[in-house]
Amino acid sequence: MILPFPIAEPESDAAAELGRKLFAGPVDFLKGVVAMDGLPDADRVEVCFAGRSNVGKSSLINALTNRKGLARASNTPGRTQEINFFELGEARYLVDLPGYGYANAPLAVVEKWQRLLKNYLSGRPNLRRAFVLVDSRHGIKEVDRTMMTMLDQAAVGYRIVLTKTDKVKKMALSLNLALLKKELSQTWDELPLIFESSAEKGTGRKEILQFIDDTNQKIKSE
Ligand code: GDP
Repeated sequence: MILPFPIAEPESDAAAELGRKLFAGPVDFLKGVVAMDGLPDADRVEVCFAGRSNVGKSSLINALTNRKGLARASNTPGRTQEINFFELGEARYLVDLPGYGYANAPLAVVEKWQRLLKNYLSGRPNLRRAFVLVDSRHGIKEVDRTMMTMLDQAAVGYRIVLTKTDKVKKMALSLNLALLKKELSQTWDELPLIFESSAEKGTGRKEILQFIDDTNQKIKSE
């Protein structure tokens, strides 16, 4: 029988366990940063999340950490152009980069943001991994490519996360994914790993958590 819409797998015990392990302690909003001198000390590993505004970044961060209102802070007026830091216990920072691609943002604002972002990415030794979120319905845009290029230049390893996959039929998702890979291969010899996710259904949570956990293990052994 073919179901007309995909149904997410119930969260596996492994995903739940990983989530508990990674986000066991307090998970709190620390601060919004508008200039390099506002960055917290680079004394712990951090992973960052980037994506166009409305891509589903806050929803994904909330789903990953299992804290419903956590990333709401990033979407409150005045905070959308800041680099928002969340503390995961005393061991890690989770960083929510400002959503890019505001259609009507004044040039001066965009330039200021780009400068801050560039400085942040290239001057943050403890930034070990990034996620570039792409809406599974809309595919990759020029701003996403710019973001990926900046990460390449800063030598920060990243993965792509396709968001809101529950909004796309399975067949369309496969087509979009194939198209995305084709587009990426025009620029990049080696394609980044791509996670499919839905904050709504919990899809992809385990894989993304696993990747964050692997990063921690790898860093510990370096
Ligand atoms: P942000 O601007 O990137 O932080 O985006 P938000 O997380 O605020 O999400 C933007 C909109 O997309 C909101 O209306 C969310 O409810 C919706 N959304 C986010 N993730 C998902 C998802 O996985 N599935 C569905 N159906 N909607 C989502």
